[in-house]
Amino acid sequence: MRTERVNTHHRHYSEILDALKICFPSPVSNPVMDGYFVHTLSCFLDRVDGLKSASPILGSTLDGDYSAQRALPMPERMSSIEQITAMLADYCRGMVVWAHPNAQANVIPPPTIASITAFIASAIYNPNIIWDEYSARFAEAEIEAVAMLADLVGYERESAGGVFTFGGTGTILYGLKLALEKISGGRAMHEGIRKPYKILASGVSHYSRVNAAGWLGLGTENLVTVPTTLQNEMSLTHLESELRRRFEAGEEVAAIIATLGTTDAFGIDDLAAIADIRDALAEEYRLPYRPHLHADAVIGWPWSVFKDYDFELNPLGFHARTLRSLQDSVERIGLLHRADSIGLDFHKTGYVPYVSSAVLVKNRDDLALLSRDPAQMPYLYQFGHYHPGLFTLECSRSGAGALAALANLRLLGKEGYRVILGHSVEMSERLRELLEELDFVHILNGGNFGPVTLFRLYPPGTAAAAAYRRELTDPAYADILERHNRFNREIFDRMHAKAVKGEGVLLSWTDAYRDAGRGNGRIAAIKSFIMSPWTDRRTIDRVVDQVWRAWEVCGPGFSA
Ligand SMILES: *Cc1c(COP(=O)(O)O)cnc(C)c1O
Repeated sequence: MRTERVNTHHRHYSEILDALKICFPSPVSNPVMDGYFVHTLSCFLDRVDGLKSASPILGSTLDGDYSAQRALPMPERMSSIEQITAMLADYCRGMVVWAHPNAQANVIPPPTIASITAFIASAIYNPNIIWDEYSARFAEAEIEAVAMLADLVGYERESAGGVFTFGGTGTILYGLKLALEKISGGRAMHEGIRKPYKILASGVSHYSRVNAAGWLGLGTENLVTVPTTLQNEMSLTHLESELRRRFEAGEEVAAIIATLGTTDAFGIDDLAAIADIRDALAEEYRLPYRPHLHADAVIGWPWSVFKDYDFELNPLGFHARTLRSLQDSVERIGLLHRADSIGLDFHKTGYVPYVSSAVLVKNRDDLALLSRDPAQMPYLYQFGHYHPGLFTLECSRSGAGALAALANLRLLGKEGYRVILGHSVEMSERLRELLEELDFVHILNGGNFGPVTLFRLYPPGTAAAAAYRRELTDPAYADILERHNRFNREIFDRMHAKAVKGEGVLLSWTDAYRDAGRGNGRIAAIKSFIMSPWTDRRTIDRVVDQVWRAWEVCGPGFSA
C-alpha cells in the first residue's frame, strides 16, 4: 500500500526527472542510449509496416467524426516512449502511401531517405536558420541550395539571393511583398499600402495569391484575373489589353504572377512573352517603375533539369511522346530567369517532406527592402556572418527544409530528377495514349505536358469530344454539364471505394478543372497525378481497366 502511494503520488521530482531524461537523445556519447533511440525508430517502422497492404492506404480509413477527440483533456501523468511510439504509428493509419504504385492521387511526393534523414538531423539538433549563430552549417546548406537553384534557373549567382520559407504560399507572399515595396519606393513597410496597386494573375493561378493580397493588406479586390486559354495558360492578348486599360486609367500595377505548372493541369504560362509585354508597355507608357514579375514555379521548377538534356541523342531513352512533352515544358520553364522572383516547392515535385520551399530573387539587393533595423532585434545578431533574420518574415525558421532540399539536390542531381520526372511523364503519356482510344473519354488537359492527366467520361451514346465542346460553348447545355459532372462523380466514387480496399488505383477528383464560361458552371474532372517511381505500365493498364469497368456499371443508368 505504502509503496503504491509512493510510486503513484509521492515520488520526489528527481525520481521522475531520471525517467524523463530517458525521453531525450543522450547529449553526450552514449551508444547504449543511441541504441535505444534507433530501436524506438525501428519499432515505429515495424508497427507501421503492419498497416501496409495492397491498398495504397495505411490500415483502415477513418470515419471523420472528431467528437470524442474534441473532448480530450490533457493527461495527468507521463507515458512511456513505447506507449507513444505505438500511438504515433497508429496516427499513420489512413495515410496514403504516396510511393505506392497504386497511388496517383495528387502532387504529393514520397520523400527520399536522404531528405527524411535531413529532417531527422534537423529535429535532433534543432537549427533555427534565423542566423548562423543558431544554425551553423544549416545556414550554409541554405546558401548552397539557393546557389544551386539560382544556377539551375539561370540567375547570376553573384547577384541572386533567396531563402527558404513556409511553403509555396510563403514564396508568393515574398514575391508580392517585394513588388509592393519596390513600387512604393520602400515605404509600404512603414506607411502601409496607400494605393490600390493591382496584381495580375491568370484565372487558374493558385489561390494563395488571394491569401497573400488579403494578408498583406492590399485587399483581394485589387487582384485582377487574366483569362486563360484552353491550354490553361494566361492569354497574352488579354494580358496586354488588361495592362493597357490599367495604365491608361492611371492605375499602378505592382506585380504580374506567371504560373509555371498550374496545380490541376500543369498549364505553363509563357513567362518570356509576359516579360516582353511588361517591358514594352512600361516603355510605351513611360512608367517610372516596372511591374514586378513573379514566377510561381512551385510545381514546374524541377523541369529546368532538362535544359541541358540532349533531346537529339536522348541518352535516357524516353519515348517520342515523352520527349515532346519534356521539350515543350522546358521551352518555357527553361526561361525562369526572366522573372524577378521565383517560388520553388521541394515538398511537391522535389521529393522532400513538408515544408520545404525556396523563394529566389534575381537581385539580392531587393531583399534589403524587407529589412528591419537591427536595433529592433537587440537580442540577436551580435555574432556570425549570415543574418537572413534581418529580412525574413519568420523569426524561428527551421533548418530542415533547406537541408532536405540540399540533400535531394545532391542525392539526385540533374540525372536523378530527369529520371524520376521523365518516368512520371512517360507513365502519364502512356495513360493518355490508352485513354485516347476510348471514345467515351475526353482528356481535358491534352495540350499540357506533365505528370497530371485530367479526364472526363461521358455516358453511352454521347460523343465525348463534341459533348465537351458544347459544355464549354453552349449555354443551353448547362444542365447536361451538371449531369455529366454527377456521372463522373459516381464513377470516381466507385473507383475510389475499390482502390481504398486494394482493388484498384487511387485517383483524385477536382470539382472545378475550369469554369465552363457563359455561366455554364464548372467542369469537374477525374485526375491522375503520377509521382511514384514505382508506377509502371501495369499500373497504367490497371487504371484504364478500372475506368472501363466503372463506366460499364454506371453508364446504363445515365444513358440519354
Ligand atoms: C501548391 C501551390 C501553391 C501553394 O503552395 P503551398 O506550398 O501549398 O503553400 C502555390 N502555387 C501553386 C501553383 C501550387 O500548386
